[in-house]
Amino acid sequence: MATKLDSATEAARPTFPKRAIITGGMPYGNKNLHFGHIGGVFVPADFFARFLRDRIGVQNVVFVSGTDCYGSPIMEGYRKKVEGEGYAGTIEDYVRHNHDLQKQALDAYQISLDIFAGSGLEPAKPFHAALSDKLIRRLHEKGVLVKRTTRQFYDVKAQTFLNGRQVQGHCPVRGCKSEKAYADECDLGHQFDPEELINPVSQLTGTTPELRPVDNWYFDLPRFHQVLDDLMDEWDADPQVRVIVTKTVRESLADPVIYIQSKFRDQFDAVESKLPQHTVREAEKGQTSFSVGFANWEDRDSAREVLESSGVRFRTGKTLLPFRITGNIEWGVAAPDLEGTHDLTVWCWPESLWAPISFTQTALDADAKQGGGRYSTDDWRDWWCSKDAKVYQFIGQDNIYFYCVVQPALWEALDWGLTQDIPVANYHILFMNKKASSSGAIKPPMAAELLDYYTPEQLRAHWLSLGLDQKAVSFSPKPFDTSVSHKDKKTGEEVLVKDDPRVVDPALKESAFLTNIFNRLARSCFYGAANVCDSHLPSVAPHAEVVEGCVKATLEFEKCAHAFDAHGALAVAEDFCRAANKRWGDASKAANGDDAAYEQALADAFAELRCVTLLMHPAVPAGCEQICDHMGFAHELFFSWENAFATPGQLAQKLGEEPGEHAIVALPPRFDFFQKHPSQVKKGK
Ligand SMILES: [Zn+2]
Repeated sequence: MATKLDSATEAARPTFPKRAIITGGMPYGNKNLHFGHIGGVFVPADFFARFLRDRIGVQNVVFVSGTDCYGSPIMEGYRKKVEGEGYAGTIEDYVRHNHDLQKQALDAYQISLDIFAGSGLEPAKPFHAALSDKLIRRLHEKGVLVKRTTRQFYDVKAQTFLNGRQVQGHCPVRGCKSEKAYADECDLGHQFDPEELINPVSQLTGTTPELRPVDNWYFDLPRFHQVLDDLMDEWDADPQVRVIVTKTVRESLADPVIYIQSKFRDQFDAVESKLPQHTVREAEKGQTSFSVGFANWEDRDSAREVLESSGVRFRTGKTLLPFRITGNIEWGVAAPDLEGTHDLTVWCWPESLWAPISFTQTALDADAKQGGGRYSTDDWRDWWCSKDAKVYQFIGQDNIYFYCVVQPALWEALDWGLTQDIPVANYHILFMNKKASSSGAIKPPMAAELLDYYTPEQLRAHWLSLGLDQKAVSFSPKPFDTSVSHKDKKTGEEVLVKDDPRVVDPALKESAFLTNIFNRLARSCFYGAANVCDSHLPSVAPHAEVVEGCVKATLEFEKCAHAFDAHGALAVAEDFCRAANKRWGDASKAANGDDAAYEQALADAFAELRCVTLLMHPAVPAGCEQICDHMGFAHELFFSWENAFATPGQLAQKLGEEPGEHAIVALPPRFDFFQKHPSQVKKGK
């Protein structure tokens, strides 16, 4: 019988839902994935998804993501490819090509998605179109959509409205020199109203566009202030939600405020009587601005107009504002015609929030069509609207506003019983200590490119160990490090880090553990069993203290994994494995010809190997599954946490065998469960 935990220990364990959705990523469909997508979001999400499959059962986990297919950057990327490169495909072909590249990169890193779909691609496309239509009608029916008229750029020559990147000009934000400013934001992230864009040029015809009024539907987000306030109190008490999330959300829950520099005080005083009801808060000592607070955003908007027309410069603080749902971009999901609006499409941000539901429906439908059985239920509501289920959303910190402000309010407004996500917001992964972006000066390497230098398992283990839950951390792979290491004494020439054999690659730190420690323990067990047990498990039970050590490490690992602390979880496994290796080294040496003592040491080592293999499985699945295969067990038996505290001998007993009768698979000499990348193998060896 496997170890049974006492009730106090059992009660102190973290709890997990019966079913879980894991989602994240949603890469945009205009390019392939760079390392930050994979290392910063997909690998942490995959670690958790794999852990949960082991922990609560494969049939109870659905891990979904997909390409965000719509929007103006995609239309612009496509137009440039057609005009610049003579691309002959359709826009859907263009998106599918990028989607396929993304899928290949995810597969290469062993990201175990149940479905990687595309919001505008078969088979998810019809699900997403239907859900979008139903959802917007529902919001309208619930009275939380408001029609607003705003002004938008219109290309008279092409007779079309221009969206996002289809218009380009100079950024109006003071001090910004960007000439890559689009309809309402510049490439450095400054936001402004379309009226403010300097020298706007239509990218379609090169003409100067004019501003025309358009009607759009907006979600009445400010109405959900209290709902979000309450949710933050709930999240405060939830150890799974990080402080950065609640802090960022609360910033956007502030009352509507305008900040005005003190030097404009006279001008302000002259127009103050024209402002809606407000309260002035004087500049505190050391501050150069005073602030003016309003009861609601509408009042603040009226005040902005008054201040603008009287030349008072100001800036506005964050507050909840109506959130745009529709637009008129051609390449988008059709929005239903409501109250006289027509030909509107859904803005790509809101529809990407509910796309994971469409993807879940797509995956479950495929299962149902094949007769079911892959999942514990094929009804999407059992996953998204059930008290037994949880949804874990892995996001970057840039997107907290969308996923943790807009989405919870939308879910509440729909009144479909959707459960609120548990957001997992990671910090940025830096490249060579700098923030890298494909549009910036420092180009991050593409995910696929890194595999010319590393194995996927090496990178998975490295990225998971960075501790992105705590702070922004740099990924600094040596083969890409072109900084100067030193000057060659003989030639006086500069030697770059990437060419300096004395520099240790920081990205290979965890790989050394896999190869030198974990692999060594596994080899010791299998070669030892071949020597003294005729390639069977040792017939004796491991020492009680060894079994206790396994239980302790497993429980510590579980606690870290539950808190999305992959770094801490892997540290538990690594420390445990190092100690196991040492124990084996000492005990096998001390046995010195005593076969019984040797077999006892081997039984201890097998129990510890079994434990490390279970714990490392979510991080480096392929190598761990090979170890399991060689131990002669089915993956479902070995990796299921139902058996987490069972030793190899006890697993054999579950199969009706005595430990000494359970055959293992012999290893060829010098076998490596965690091989090095060919580029890392020293030549001539
Ligand atoms: Zn700017």
